[in-house]
Amino acid sequence: MELFVPKETFPGENRAALIPASAKKLVEAGLAVKIEAGLGLASDYEDKDYEAAGASVVEDRAQALGSADIVMRVRKPSEEEIGLLKTGAVHISFLDPFQESELLAVFAKAGVSAISMEMMPRSTLAQKMDVLSSQANLAGYYAVIKAAERMNKILPMMMTPAGTISPARVFVIGVGVAGLQAIATAKRLGARVDAFDTRPVVEEQVKSLGAKFVKIDLGEMGQTAQGYAKELTPEQIELQRKGMADACTRSDIVITTAKLFGRKAPVILTADMISKMKRGSIVVDLAVESGGNVEGSRLNEEVVTEKGVIIIGEGNLEGQVGHHASQVYSYNLTSLVEHFWDNENKKLSLDLEDEIIQGCLLTHGGQIIHPKFKDT
Ligand code: NAD
Repeated sequence: MELFVPKETFPGENRAALIPASAKKLVEAGLAVKIEAGLGLASDYEDKDYEAAGASVVEDRAQALGSADIVMRVRKPSEEEIGLLKTGAVHISFLDPFQESELLAVFAKAGVSAISMEMMPRSTLAQKMDVLSSQANLAGYYAVIKAAERMNKILPMMMTPAGTISPARVFVIGVGVAGLQAIATAKRLGARVDAFDTRPVVEEQVKSLGAKFVKIDLGEMGQTAQGYAKELTPEQIELQRKGMADACTRSDIVITTAKLFGRKAPVILTADMISKMKRGSIVVDLAVESGGNVEGSRLNEEVVTEKGVIIIGEGNLEGQVGHHASQVYSYNLTSLVEHFWDNENKKLSLDLEDEIIQGCLLTHGGQIIHPKFKDT
């Protein structure tokens, strides 16, 4: 079986879907691994290291797409490139399936089995394939680094002969994978950290990291079976805003990571709340790509408000630490292939009854098979 990994073409995308160490594992399993020349350069993995791992480096992307049995990439492909794939090929990547019903139809028509990595079930068994977690973890880390670099203050307390500098105050809204890592990173840098999430189970995790949980009574909240947040009513969102206003006003950095799986993110920080923040404060909106938690944040832009608050709306923060983002993404995808690898026959065998495959395989045998997307 042949596996091909093309270079990412999305502007500013530094990540690669496969790194040399994973290529080595797949070659050892019995796959013929091909990568497009320059695949890992943007994240500092060199062609020669892929070659040393037993992969072949090819220049002709179209030809390699046409002959591959498995294709791995980070971002969704163009319709044209799906057209190049052979019937029965397996395509593994992020697909943004809630926004991309047409792309799913193109996959189905081409007879390609499309695996959407963001649909990976959140089970213990699938943890090593969980790309949302592996990437959000790095985005949470980098959001703090970015804010720290942009701020005119330092994070830790310093007692010096020239006086005492108070620690910066960081407020993290949304404490999933990214939020937890943001808290841990801000704590390591010496900040005082507050946090809030609508899922009550999070309070203990926040405290165990040495941060303070901001308590707001929103009535019925809870979480879905997969551990995702439930959508709040407009009244609950209003209560939440009121409850968080003070924490925002006293913070030097506010990091928002509040997302709703498959839906638009809620607007949590209003322009009015931001207008009460201190001059020079930093807001990082990690939900900017799914609609944004912050009124006035703009994708891939830095907005400075009239009162001098800086709103960072950069998308794909994990891509800015592309070396490690590629490492863990590549590990996730390689784990998926290894899990479904039929070692006897040296082929990928997607068991349609398997709960992981049922979660993330969206098209197969010429049809959209996932119940969530069937009628789109
Ligand atoms: P996410 O990216 O969908 O959302 C980020 C956070 O925002 C979540 O904690 C969510 O509760 C919160 N949020 C949503 N609306 C909010 C609002 N109005 N105000 C404040 N916060 C709000 O979530 P995620 O990071 O992908 O993970 C969600 C949960 O799933 C976490 O508890 C995580 O530990 C769990 N998880 C489990 C597994 C597993 O079992 N294998 C794997 C990964 C994650």
